[in-house]
Amino acid sequence: MTDSNDRASQAPPVRRLPDRRLIVSIHDVSPAFADPIERLAETIGAILGGPRFAMLVVPDHWGAAPLDRAPAFARRLRGWADAGVEMFLHGWFHRDTSAHAGAAAAIKARYMTAGEGEFLGLSADEAEDRMRRGRDLVEDAIERPVAGFIAPAWLYGAGAHQALKACDFALAEDHFRVWQPASGAVVAKGPVVTWASRSTARTASSLAVAAAARALPDWLPTLRVAVHPGDVTKESLMKSIDRTIRSLSARRTVGRYADLLPEGGRAS
Ligand SMILES: [Zn+2]
Repeated sequence: MTDSNDRASQAPPVRRLPDRRLIVSIHDVSPAFADPIERLAETIGAILGGPRFAMLVVPDHWGAAPLDRAPAFARRLRGWADAGVEMFLHGWFHRDTSAHAGAAAAIKARYMTAGEGEFLGLSADEAEDRMRRGRDLVEDAIERPVAGFIAPAWLYGAGAHQALKACDFALAEDHFRVWQPASGAVVAKGPVVTWASRSTARTASSLAVAAAARALPDWLPTLRVAVHPGDVTKESLMKSIDRTIRSLSARRTVGRYADLLPEGGRAS
């Protein structure tokens, strides 16, 4: 009977599912958040064995952090891109307002509020203009094409959808799907696991969702995980992020967005 005792004392082996994919991304990559971005990249890179994640770059966060006036950060971005990080354009200002000036403290206070859906209410012309200018700015920094466009807060209005097609981005995503704007073809479905740092209640519910995602049966072929600079302000969130990415990457193949494109698609 020692045989069964031995077996019982062993932890069940983790079964890696080769056809199940995990894609991790860091949102709101901007010189405004250079330190938190650095910490997130380090933490996640250590878990995944390298910079095997995507970054969503904001060209001028709240009109206070233009990428083309932050050469050191732009070089850092280029280094990550060289190391294989997929770079997405993530809005222009990120925030849905025209009043962007303000001291650092005011910016911090405003970041604690909602209203980050910059591309929800834009006309097609305005959306296209920001997409084209934003893409130029990010591509100047990384010296290669962006992997796609992802709207702030995953919110797209009709104008944004129209502009996405006109700009011919390879990929876009919202909370529930990843698609190819040119054809409208959906290449992955399923919610994004993400965390909220803005309020105690939202933090608590995001911790519960992450725990549920870790315990979830592996039905979804692709599971996306997204982290934000604000997550580093709460140790409970950083712990949950660590556990969640560790657990999911043990069971799933760590993939790239480009893997979702038919025939490998456009590698970035
Ligand atoms: Zn964002």
